[in-house]
Amino acid sequence: KLSKRLETVVSYIDKGMSIADIGSDHAYLPCYAVKKGIVSRAIAGEVVEGPYQSARKQVASVGLNDIIDVRKGNGLAVIEAGEVDAIVIAGMGGTLITDILEAGKEKLQGVKRLILQPNIAADVIRNWLVRNGWQLVDEEILEEDGKFYEVLVAERGEVTPSYSVKELMLGPFILKKKNEAFYYKWQQEIEQWEHILQELNKAEQNEKVHYKKESLLNVINMVKGE
Ligand code: SAM
Repeated sequence: KLSKRLETVVSYIDKGMSIADIGSDHAYLPCYAVKKGIVSRAIAGEVVEGPYQSARKQVASVGLNDIIDVRKGNGLAVIEAGEVDAIVIAGMGGTLITDILEAGKEKLQGVKRLILQPNIAADVIRNWLVRNGWQLVDEEILEEDGKFYEVLVAERGEVTPSYSVKELMLGPFILKKKNEAFYYKWQQEIEQWEHILQELNKAEQNEKVHYKKESLLNVINMVKGE
């Protein structure tokens, strides 16, 4: 059985799409998507030898060698431009996901959809998307085993909406849906920020500390308003 997190990621793949799962680890996601009949061709990319071998073993053990190509390499280096309809990058920080997209920009030609699942720093990805001609088409936040995960779905956009700071931080679609996970995640963040603020109040007060306190307060107030 696939985790709720990865199942949510899979739900954004259209039936018949070819995919590349970058940083696939055990290749659970492509194996599941093929078994469910959603995907008929997949590439699983891994840069680290251990996970690459795990992916190869998993794909072989479920008899999908002909359908899922396990490739070793850094980020999008494992694919050719135009080879897949959608790219999945899941289970990493937003900065690493963004670095992979940026480094492999020319490989994104012909890609119709990006399905990205950052564990942290989703805002970094949103900023990259809007600056690089990608349009968010959907988002979701979910909780699993006490952790929060965001899923960002983007397609090539002719007109990229200009989002506010708040929308880039919390997610324009996540803000529209505002589910339970949204409130829990940001409540937790607010508590952490308030803790930092208390510590800053105890510290020696200088210009730097004042500036930090002010920007923290701004963020806290912005998120609290939701
Ligand atoms: N995608 C799976 C998931 O969501 O469950 C695995 C997530 S795992 C935490 C991250 C994986 O990404 C690791 O196996 C790591 O080796 C791989 N990885 C990290 N940087 C990478 C890169 N630049 N290119 C390819 N794989 C990478």
